[in-house]
Formats: sequence, C-alpha cells, structure tokens
Amino acid sequence: MINFTHRFANLGEDFFSYVTPTPLQNPHLIHFNTQFAHKLNLDASSINWAAVLGGQKSFKEYPSLATLYAGHQFGVWVHQLGDGRAMLIAEHLDKQDNIWELQTKGGGKTPFSRGADGRAVLRSSIREYLCSHAMASLGVPTTNVLTFVGSTTPVRREEMESAAVVLRVAPSFIRFGSFEVFASRNETDKLKKLCNYVIDSFYPYLNNDNKPILSMYHEVVKNTALMIAKWQALGFCHGVMNTDNMSILGLTIDYGPFGFMDAYNPNHICNHSDYNGRYAYINQPYIGWWNLARLGEALLDILSEEEVSETLAKYSEYFTDYYTYEFGNKLGIYDFKRSDLGFLDELLNILAANNIDWTYFWHEFSSGLHLDSLASSSEYKGWLEKYNLRTKDLDKAKSRKLMKSTNPAIIPRNYMLQNAITKAQDGDFSEVDNLFRALSNPYDDIPEFSHYQDLPPVGTEEIIVSCSS
Ligand code: AMP
Ligand code: MG
Repeated sequence: MINFTHRFANLGEDFFSYVTPTPLQNPHLIHFNTQFAHKLNLDASSINWAAVLGGQKSFKEYPSLATLYAGHQFGVWVHQLGDGRAMLIAEHLDKQDNIWELQTKGGGKTPFSRGADGRAVLRSSIREYLCSHAMASLGVPTTNVLTFVGSTTPVRREEMESAAVVLRVAPSFIRFGSFEVFASRNETDKLKKLCNYVIDSFYPYLNNDNKPILSMYHEVVKNTALMIAKWQALGFCHGVMNTDNMSILGLTIDYGPFGFMDAYNPNHICNHSDYNGRYAYINQPYIGWWNLARLGEALLDILSEEEVSETLAKYSEYFTDYYTYEFGNKLGIYDFKRSDLGFLDELLNILAANNIDWTYFWHEFSSGLHLDSLASSSEYKGWLEKYNLRTKDLDKAKSRKLMKSTNPAIIPRNYMLQNAITKAQDGDFSEVDNLFRALSNPYDDIPEFSHYQDLPPVGTEEIIVSCSS
C-alpha cells in the first residue's frame, strides 16, 4: 500500500503540469527490487505494477504530473526542458515520515516532450535499473528504481526497439534546473517557494539558521562534492552532467550514457555524444563546481553575490576532503592526508601509463595482490616501496577492512549490462536477475559471481553508449 501524501503536488501548477500516461501494449513486469520496497515500507503486493507502469491504471489518490525545469545542456542555456517522459505518479510517506517520490520514466508524451516520443527503451531501462541498484549498494547517494516493465510497443531509436517503463524512486527529483527556470523568468516568489519546499522537506534543520536558503545552497555544495568524490573513487562517469541532471539533494540522477571506467584513463569519455569530453572522468569535479555556480546564479535574487561566491568557494575544500578520505580508504591508509595526494597521483600516473583496469586493480590491491601487468614496471615497484614505508605502522587488519569496504569486487561494466540486455531482448531475463543479485553485495567475493570480477573480455571496452535511450 502506498501511504499517499501531496507535498510536492500542493506546490501547485506553476511547478508542473498534470499529465495522462499513454498506455503500453502488453506491459509485463520484469524485475522488482523487494529489498528496496521493504526499506520504503511499501507493501507492493496489492498493486498491479504492470498495469500502473503500463499506463492502464492510475492511482485515484494522485493525479500524475510532469515537473517544469530548465537547464544548461553541455554548457548551453535551454530555457525550458521539464519532464519530457517522466511522470510523478505518487508521493509516499514511509514510517519515519520521509517522503518518497514515485516517478515513471517512459510513460508517454508530456507538455515538455518537445517533439520527442516520451518513451524509453528496454535497453536503457535495464541499464538504469541495474546501475542505480549497484550505486545504492555501493553506498553512493542515488535515486533508485523499484521495478520496471517491458512491452511490445515499438519505439524508433537508431533501430526499432521496444518500449519499457522504470519506476524511479527518490525523496525528490528536483534539480538545479528547477530553480534556474524561475530565476530566468524573474519569478522570485516561485523560486522562494521552491527553496522553502526543499528546506522544509529535506533540510528542515536549516530552518533555525539565519538564512535558510543560503544554508541550503551550502548543503547542496557539500552534498554534490561528496557524491562526485564517490564517483571518482569508483571510476563512475555520469556522461551527461547538465544542470537539469543535477539533484538538489546530491543524488546521482538520470542514468543515461553512464559508464564505469575499465582501463584507467583520466580523459575517459563514456558518452559517445560528448564530442569535446566536457564530461570526461577527470572533468567531473570541475563540472560539479560549474553547475553549482549556475545554481548560485539562479539564487541571486535571494542571496548576495558575496554570499554565493563565498559558499561556492567551499566546494573545492569539501571535494578535496571527501576525495582524500575516499582514496585514503581505497589505499587502506586511514590517516591519509591532503599532503599524501601527490603520492596517490604517482600511482594514478602509473595506472594510466600501463592501461590498468581500475576496479580490478583496486580489488586485487586490497587483497594484497599485485597485477602481473605491473610486475615489470620499475615505477610501480618504486611506488610500492614508498607505500610499504608509509603504511608500516598502520594496523594491517584495520587497513584491509577499509580497503575491502571501498574497493568493490563487482561493478556493472558496460559489457555485462549489454549481455543482460541482449538476452532480455530475446525474452530471457535471467541475466538481469543474476546481475541484480551480484550487484546487491558488490564488495563481497561471492563464488557464484566470481566471473563478474574478471577483467572485461578483450574488445568490450569499446562498447559505445549515447544519449539515445
Ligand atoms: P536527458 O538527457 O535524458 O536528461 O533528457 C534531457 C531532456 O530531454 C529532458 O527534458 C527529458 O525529459 C527530455 N527527453 C529525453 N528523451 C526524451 C524522449 N524520448 N521523449 C521526450 N522527452 C525526452
Ligand atoms: Mg534529464
């Protein structure tokens, strides 16, 4: 049962448009994240999810809506975007009174579809389902997916594919772009109303501050820095860090052409459509700052320039602290400091020069193993000597534990997702389930899933993903 609330909906139609989902042909449920439903105190058994996600049924308690936002896409201002294929179909209150928005993606056209079809394909839905589950299990702040359906509705992308709908869940899907749209229209009242909604609902402790909206901006700066530090540590590349894909809660949002790096290459670009590498791995921390600067600008009718720039300046401090913490853990150096970062960079340069697989390296390293491919590297040997010296007084068991809990055994590599997709397109969802289970405990060495820990098969590193989803 959903415990309906209407907190966001009560903001009124300045913030969204009511929409009606377009039914799918033959919607069928493919997978359901039972653990997540438990976490939400959502007894899902009474709900016909295939009919709800398939647009045949809707909740009488909650009329569906598509939210309004704008954004900077690849650095270029777009004055109106909005949910072109996402629909908020419920707000649920769990037992602790936390709000959870239930949002479908791919449910059909909305007033914000801008000529596109409002659909999502099975391929991209499987990717979003498995990757958001993996990120949640890896401990990265993220939106998640409760369930998804496939259908026989044809959808045209580069080729014909079938439509699918995921049910995404997060406390809120409000983005930086949700603020930018009102700022650009000089609608300060609406901007303030949105800020107050976010503060009351998600940052209520800030209401005691002198300037809650400034404090909110500060929290977003901090949370964004934390999220991106975690991405960097895991080798996760988002692919489309436009301001409309940046969550006001610092959650990883809008899984599209994302990818976990295989071989470490700081200039790795996961999105085929990102010709200039704006969102390359190494640029992600800077882009986080750039996006926060746009959010800060959007708040300038409420905050002073000085307040915004002082707060924004803290981003690099927070980011460096979180980054230092994450990589210290990866190295098992629990007293790792900023002054050690040069030592980390030496290692990263060696990994890049030798084309070393990111996840594989760190996982082996945390087991005290060293890759054959590095055995002949005198630089690596030299670095290891320094490492041994740096760690000689550390509690080995403590270090090992830390490393094991930060260097995953399994991540959803593109080729694995592609295998699950290829089978699913033939009606076999067993690989979706296998990966789902493997990614539920990504830090554990589970014999049943040891094949997922192997290096990616030769040639699969080039699997290309684009914005088309
Ligand atoms: P994204 O790059 O997926 O974050 O999407 C950017 C914007 O395009 C958002 O406003 C989306 O809702 C919209 N959009 C993307 N794909 C579609 C689609 N197939 N139909 C309608 N709108 C879409
Ligand atoms: Mg988006």
